[in-house]
Amino acid sequence: MSEARPGARLAIDGGTPVRATPLPYARQTIDDADIAAVTAVLRSDWLTTGPAVGAFEAALADATGAPHVVAFSSGTAALHAAAFAAGLGPGDEAITTPLTFAATANCVRYQGAMPVFADVEADTMNIDVAAVAAAITPRTKAILPVDYTGQPADLDELMSLARAHGCVVIEDAAHSLGAEYRGRRVGTLADMTVFSTHPAKHVTTGEGGAVATADPALAARLRRFRTHGIASDPHERATRGQWTYDMVELGFNYRITDIQCALGVSQLRHLAAWVDRRRAIAARYDQAFAGHPALETPVMRADRAPAWHLYVLRVRAGALRGGRAAAFRALHAENIKVNVHYVPVHWHSYYQGLGFRKGVCPVAEDAYDRMVSLPMFSGMSDADVDDVVAGVLKVTEGLAS
Ligand SMILES: *Cc1c(COP(=O)(O)O)cnc(C)c1O
Repeated sequence: MSEARPGARLAIDGGTPVRATPLPYARQTIDDADIAAVTAVLRSDWLTTGPAVGAFEAALADATGAPHVVAFSSGTAALHAAAFAAGLGPGDEAITTPLTFAATANCVRYQGAMPVFADVEADTMNIDVAAVAAAITPRTKAILPVDYTGQPADLDELMSLARAHGCVVIEDAAHSLGAEYRGRRVGTLADMTVFSTHPAKHVTTGEGGAVATADPALAARLRRFRTHGIASDPHERATRGQWTYDMVELGFNYRITDIQCALGVSQLRHLAAWVDRRRAIAARYDQAFAGHPALETPVMRADRAPAWHLYVLRVRAGALRGGRAAAFRALHAENIKVNVHYVPVHWHSYYQGLGFRKGVCPVAEDAYDRMVSLPMFSGMSDADVDDVVAGVLKVTEGLAS
């Protein structure tokens, strides 16, 4: 294990990095069983929209407790489908958080509706229920909370708010597969729950995503949207020996392949163990950094069990020379490849062009200014975790003001 020697020269100033090879912030884990599962599909009759898709959906339903799961070609496609199934259209508004990947808001725009950004809570960085309540108008059709870093948002409060105003809750759970909220699993908390299986997420299909719902009518709409708005899929038609089909509404080709889904089924075997590993890494980081004068560690509510997609530290204002930007560069030089999640969505040029202005979500914007995401993935060794701890302690000491 590498120790932060007191007074060690920072790598950015010509010192020796805490580790010799770069440690990414996220990375997939692929084993021989995954490779065998994909190879078996390549030798089979169906490369896409065959039996593996249903098997992946069933495995995800089993892992989350969701009655219906519809898999998509990406988490973004799944978000788009959920926005469609919620009935979002021109003139409608959907309230979401600025601390997310742009796709959460973009899916609202795909439907011609407008996102409305509500600020986050200062401690958890999850969407603030009071800010959501204040942002509701007669045009509000959906609320899109994100389970930021893997901690479920205030789903009960958001669901009651949505019920009182006739809106749909689409939970962006790209960070929270395997998390629990008040003893219930993510996937059973909102009208629709959206997952991503990008390689940075808990389990991967390369690209991929899914929507979970308890509502069979929503599940049917999601399924149709995935394949051009056609009411049956090619596998069903082949099974029934049927050639006619009817395109009843305008959908997309958002299908996920059997190749990807075979990988997904194989990956899901590890979900519980991988979430446990992430929790153990988070506990080690907490132990190393809690009470540090320059750092704020993540705040988790007692009634939820987070899935730890990310571990986001915040640098205290004024505690380090050059602040977060300097810490980010110094950590990269130490070969600890931290990241930042996220540039507030309304700061992007596209949203600025739609008339959104900086300053409207001051809590999220202040958090963004001070945050770094430490490496967090199930395949990290204890030595990797020690390197991150050593790197952060070295850099905070070297930059202390
Ligand atoms: C990863 C992610 C998405 C999009 O998922 P893709 O599968 O990459 O399209 C959406 N929202 C959030 C919060 C994400 O982290």
